[in-house]
Amino acid sequence: MALNLIIMGPPGAGKGTQAELLARAHGIPKVSTGDMLREAVQAGTELGRRAKAIMDAGSLVGDDIVIGVVQERLDRPDARRGFVLDGFPRTVPQARALDAMLTGRDPLIVLNIVVPDAELVRRLLARRVCEGCGAVYGTTDTNVADRCRRCGGVLTQRSDDNEEVVRERLRVYERETRPLVEYYQDRPTFRPIDGAQVPENVARAVAAAVDSAAGLTADDGTPVGRDI
Ligand code: AMP
Repeated sequence: MALNLIIMGPPGAGKGTQAELLARAHGIPKVSTGDMLREAVQAGTELGRRAKAIMDAGSLVGDDIVIGVVQERLDRPDARRGFVLDGFPRTVPQARALDAMLTGRDPLIVLNIVVPDAELVRRLLARRVCEGCGAVYGTTDTNVADRCRRCGGVLTQRSDDNEEVVRERLRVYERETRPLVEYYQDRPTFRPIDGAQVPENVARAVAAAVDSAAGLTADDGTPVGRDI
């Protein structure tokens, strides 16, 4: 069975970190629309030129554009065995388009990471990202200087991680993205996750939720026997 996963949650909930861990654990690609858009901005492509001002303002790039980018990515052979979507869908039209794209494929597992607003603002303003490998740090992490522990790259702040834009991104989340909880919550494969814990504990909760949603274990964590 292919693991078709979505990680939802507000900016700063830890979606990228958890998506990366899941992708590595299951050998499936992490598909982050934010990363793809930032790469397009860096590369100076037509897509990047159109997206930059929108991203810097904390608004959402148009549905048609991101839907096209995701469709193209999920059609590639490596995504046939599954994928972890990070930052998509962010609107109800995007969620509908995703359902249409996945017709005939295994059901979506939807993880919704929940974190209080004050903690989100704190995390986003403290976030530093490695220019080399994309590793994410908080300025309150111990041993964080100005270099990445993994690759030695320079740590920088994302241009949209400043207070004014962070507040706008949280408003956009409430207006455009939170309605997706209602869109998905009645599906048997929907799982809420407490994201206000340390990342290792969130990762454990995420792994258990994926196992239960994929039918590998019962909801109380006990393994499910296979019929022979
Ligand atoms: P992220 O890295 O997920 O926080 O995304 C950074 C920015 O990219 C967002 O604030 C949006 O401007 C844009 N973006 C990423 N994903 C989407 C999406 N699914 N729909 C619209 N805009 C997006």
